[in-house]
Amino acid sequence: MKALITGGAGFIGSYLAEELLKRNYHVWVIDDLSTGRIENIDALKSNNKFNYIIDTIMNKNLMAELVDRSSVIFHLAAAVGVQLIVDQPVKTIETNIKGTEVVLELAEKKQKKVVIASTSEIYGKSSQIPFTENGDMLFGPTIRSRWSYAVSKAIDEFLGLAYYYEKKLPVAITRLFNTVGPRQTGRYGMVIPRFIKQALNNESLTVYGDGNQSRCFTYVGDVVTAIADVSELKEAFGQVYNIGSTEEITIKDLAEKIIKMTGSKSKIEFIPYEKAYSSGFEDMNRRIPDISKIGKLTGYKPSVNLEEILKRTIEYMRNAD
Ligand code: UDP
Repeated sequence: MKALITGGAGFIGSYLAEELLKRNYHVWVIDDLSTGRIENIDALKSNNKFNYIIDTIMNKNLMAELVDRSSVIFHLAAAVGVQLIVDQPVKTIETNIKGTEVVLELAEKKQKKVVIASTSEIYGKSSQIPFTENGDMLFGPTIRSRWSYAVSKAIDEFLGLAYYYEKKLPVAITRLFNTVGPRQTGRYGMVIPRFIKQALNNESLTVYGDGNQSRCFTYVGDVVTAIADVSELKEAFGQVYNIGSTEEITIKDLAEKIIKMTGSKSKIEFIPYEKAYSSGFEDMNRRIPDISKIGKLTGYKPSVNLEEILKRTIEYMRNAD
């Protein structure tokens, strides 16, 4: 089996590469290093079943060649991270939509399997907790650029499913909830690496809003196992799957837990959203997935709880610099 991972030098992509190599795949990675990092794949370079190219997925000739060589394409290349989305909405929309167009168009020519990585942002402000794959999406207005990410990923899902229905292309969609673990960077807004770094430096932990908003964090290893499993099951094509955890924690409790676990002297600083991002910024209050559909398909169950995720990530970040 030969896999192409777009965005394979990213945090999640690099773990997926590792997982597929374990499953004896030949793995090609394409990444333009816009948010990915070469260090993420350093350890894989010596594996003779691993190859990588630093280039953009908009390079259609190159992509045609890579798609041709693959039996399955994992499309993870995307603009990610709330901070990045707020700062660079044009790039977010263009990368997400055009990139997916390129992948699907080329895959269709050769009838190659595609797994698209989508996001829990898709559910937007929906209050239909837990989120089921067939639940409604609820987005804010277009003047608030945060929503451009969710809507662009929704277009990706529509397009992927349209290729499945109209062109009989085997496409599966995975909606990833907050995915965390060692190697994730806090540069684009992700809360756990940010809090751990702040705690290790004895700086204030920057809790946005009142900190009562909650999330369920999933270990990246569990996520990539599920993505790889989905790609290997015929029944998955034409379907959408939530991949996440149901262990909920408020951001304020998360900050307190990280301070305790690192033995830090840090305090918590509450920062209004408009100061953290931009005026009129809307956050999601709660985000809990229904994971029964992926559970039925693959037997998926998160295997690493939050405590252990934090332990591993703290350990990694202590030794990183
Ligand atoms: N957050 C925070 N402080 C930070 C970064 C993030 O309080 O320094 C909050 C953010 O407002 C959100 C939650 O942590 O409520 C998770 O943020 P993240 O960007 O990691 O993921 P999201 O769920 O927003 O995609």
